[in-house]
Amino acid sequence: MSRAAPGLARDLPWVGAREPWAVLVSEVMLQQTPAARVAGPWRAFLERYPTPAALAVAPLSEVLTAWRGLGYHRRARDLQRAAGMIVERHDGRIPTAVEDLRALPGVGEYTARAVAAFAFGAHVAVVDTNVARVLARAVAGRPLAVREAREEAAALLGRRDPRRFNQAMIDLGALFCAARPRCGGCPLARVCAWRAVGGEDPAPASAHVTRRQAPFAGSDRQWRGRAIERLRDGPATTSEMHRHLVGLEPARRRRVLDGLIADGLVTQAREGFALAGAPRVAR
Ligand code: SF4
Repeated sequence: MSRAAPGLARDLPWVGAREPWAVLVSEVMLQQTPAARVAGPWRAFLERYPTPAALAVAPLSEVLTAWRGLGYHRRARDLQRAAGMIVERHDGRIPTAVEDLRALPGVGEYTARAVAAFAFGAHVAVVDTNVARVLARAVAGRPLAVREAREEAAALLGRRDPRRFNQAMIDLGALFCAARPRCGGCPLARVCAWRAVGGEDPAPASAHVTRRQAPFAGSDRQWRGRAIERLRDGPATTSEMHRHLVGLEPARRRRVLDGLIADGLVTQAREGFALAGAPRVAR
């Protein structure tokens, strides 16, 4: 399955995948979830929804259940909307052009380029947080703006195989040029601009480099996940939901639940709460 340089490619199930729907699903899952947590859900999700058409007609409540373990549930909603658009506008086939991919809900510049490169072999360079660190440190030795990073990546890609090149850059950033770089053993150590010039690490100030996330414990994100986890078991009365979110002060509880409703993930009726699309149970 591996398409990257021997000894460098990570052993991840989507590395080497070319089926466009499988690539799109993996890229959406990887947007905000660490690779180690994506492998299991990715396989199970594709078994359950092997095509965009299968996902497009599924109740959102089921899709949210299949999204278990991945967090950031708006992505599941957006992926389903994207599947609907693929069916309606593209006859069920993943579009090949970056601009058409970019028009799908939940698909940004990185994801569109990654699908174009990995699924279709399009000659485009992708810049995620891993690649951006490599570019800023090894290539430029200084922080890079958005356009500079894209231009550096495109220049490096040159006439190389886009699948191998992009995967190798992502793997370099993940395995060696991480937030805390592991320069010992890095294949770029002898040519790395930052190692040559020294000074402050240019990566944190570079575009595309993800800033450190706020702690998960105690965050609204955690409480949102907790509410959805409860509703995966079925609808909950208001008092059941309040008991499930015990420890959350009422104003914040309201904010968390209102946010889920506003995002179209949860519905509320007189009898309580349910995942969007779930059959309601009268109590
Ligand atoms: S030598 Fe260090 S800083 Fe340079 S690319 Fe490798 S891991 Fe990154």
